Amino acid sequence: MNAEIVAVGSEMLTPQRVDTNSLYLTGELNNLGVEVVTKCVIGDHLERLRDAVRHAISRSEILIVSGGLGPTEDDLTREAVAHALDRKLHYHQEIADALEQRFARLNRKMAEVNKRQAFIIEGATILPNERGTAPGQWVEESGAVVMLLPGPPHELKAMFERQCLPRLARIVPQLVIRTIFLRVAGMGESDLDQLIAPVYKKYVNPATTILAAAGDIQVHLRARCATVAEADTLLAEVAGPIELLLGDRIYSRNGDPLEAVVGDLLRQHHATVSVAESCTGGMLGERFTSEAGSSDYFVGGFITYTNEMKMAMVGVTPELLADHGAVSKEVAEAMAVGARRRTNSTYALSITGVAGPGAGGDSAPVGTTFIGVADAAGAHVLQRQFLGDRTRIRNFASQLALDLLRRRMTGR
Ligand code: ATP
Ligand code: MG
Repeated sequence: MNAEIVAVGSEMLTPQRVDTNSLYLTGELNNLGVEVVTKCVIGDHLERLRDAVRHAISRSEILIVSGGLGPTEDDLTREAVAHALDRKLHYHQEIADALEQRFARLNRKMAEVNKRQAFIIEGATILPNERGTAPGQWVEESGAVVMLLPGPPHELKAMFERQCLPRLARIVPQLVIRTIFLRVAGMGESDLDQLIAPVYKKYVNPATTILAAAGDIQVHLRARCATVAEADTLLAEVAGPIELLLGDRIYSRNGDPLEAVVGDLLRQHHATVSVAESCTGGMLGERFTSEAGSSDYFVGGFITYTNEMKMAMVGVTPELLADHGAVSKEVAEAMAVGARRRTNSTYALSITGVAGPGAGGDSAPVGTTFIGVADAAGAHVLQRQFLGDRTRIRNFASQLALDLLRRRMTGR
């Protein structure tokens, strides 16, 4: 079965707002074995919305329209879907009464416009809204179903979960979708694709998608089958050879980010970590602490942006800075060793580099980055030349630092 999603609201056609409801809905639909084949954002415009609805139900069995159920003039979803289905809107006094009571409980008087929310498409089932004023609607039309859900994400989620999922389960044929998420560090997207394409290209099911970010590639395998066992067998058949090819560059098999994986390793080793960061300005510390429970292993760190701070906070000597420059192997090493000494942590990570776009005071070209790790056995520094803008270079650096620690702890 195929589904489409229409997100309604002109604000999502501006640079400020993005439609997130469809991501949630897609995940839920996939769990039911339903594929989302098309989605779009439509502004608050009656005819465009009506046409989009008509088009969607002419080719897909499920359509979810989110947003535009509010009380104001620009909330046009009810009218647009009614037009598209050629049905009337009926005023439901009991909805208006319930709305009025809701306002009364909050000691407010309901505005006249709120009565717009009491209009229901002919033949539709009313979906109560536990978290807001706009009721949703479930409409069936010659083999297709259209759901009208409120835009605010917490309202939409509650309504979808309680009202729509049970109804969908009755009409959707039992097909399961199972996925494997592999996450890979220390490899470029094209190198990875070249390596594993000969394996996954042979299969349409499972479907393979590769998502690349700075220093972090995700390989998603998605199988759709009649049973869980069948899907898992199919996934194993494709994932097995891919895992062999990628080896220890795979850091996660369940979608966990690198900071979670490294955090778990530190916890298992009863080890702690500190950081000394220059060009990443705290990103590494931020990533460690984004994990709940990170106080088990993250002791803290130093943002040593200037030479003075590198000397004062982590004991880099003026001679090292003068001889090698702040962006150098020697300074990266001294930062890691110094951070470890100052905090008594088991491990310390350091980052110093030129994030650009200006070349700064150093002679090193933009993207030059040194990443250090120190532990009781000594220190080790990697040099990399990252490509991209400032954000990308900083993301690369924090990712590589985490991966360096992962490898150090697993003896690779
Ligand atoms: P309301 O009664 O709040 O007006 P509504 O159904 O009319 O409900 P909208 O007016 O379209 O919903 O949206 C209300 C708010 O919900 C928006 O300002 C936006 O913050 C959020 N929202 C709407 N659609 C989406 C979406 N697709 N993804 C994420 N957030 C959304
Ligand atoms: Mg609205």
